[in-house]
Amino acid sequence: MHCPFCNFFDSKVVNSRSSEEGNAIRRRRECLGCQKRFTTFERIEEIPLVIKKRDGHKENFDRQKLLNSVLKACEKRSITGEKIEALALQIERELYNCLEQEIPSQILGEKILAGLRELDELAYLRFASVYRHYKDATSLVKEAESLLIK
Ligand SMILES: [Zn+2]
Repeated sequence: MHCPFCNFFDSKVVNSRSSEEGNAIRRRRECLGCQKRFTTFERIEEIPLVIKKRDGHKENFDRQKLLNSVLKACEKRSITGEKIEALALQIERELYNCLEQEIPSQILGEKILAGLRELDELAYLRFASVYRHYKDATSLVKEAESLLIK
């Protein structure tokens, strides 16, 4: 990392902290040549995550797909974009924290369900109705009742 001021080749780290997303580290550096300070962002190298479907089919984890499912569940609810994004990021981080390279799709589904349940009950029910393939309205009503007695 060369100094942006004098192009000196060496610097020392004076301060580092994770950025809001948690997958980048912000470092404050001091040039050992001119003593000026500058900031660098370092991204943590990402291990590719594989989602294993119930039928054994595997596909790479897709951040956009996760965000889309959360967005769809939250459609027309008064939930801010920041909250939806934060939830998707939180789920993604949890997946990486599993430290497994292959994650069963049920685990991903359950994490989305758990997150939505905290965020918005109707969004949760919407996602649950698709995810759990409710055959009739009865099971959906039961699910709704279980929310009321929690
Ligand atoms: Zn310098």
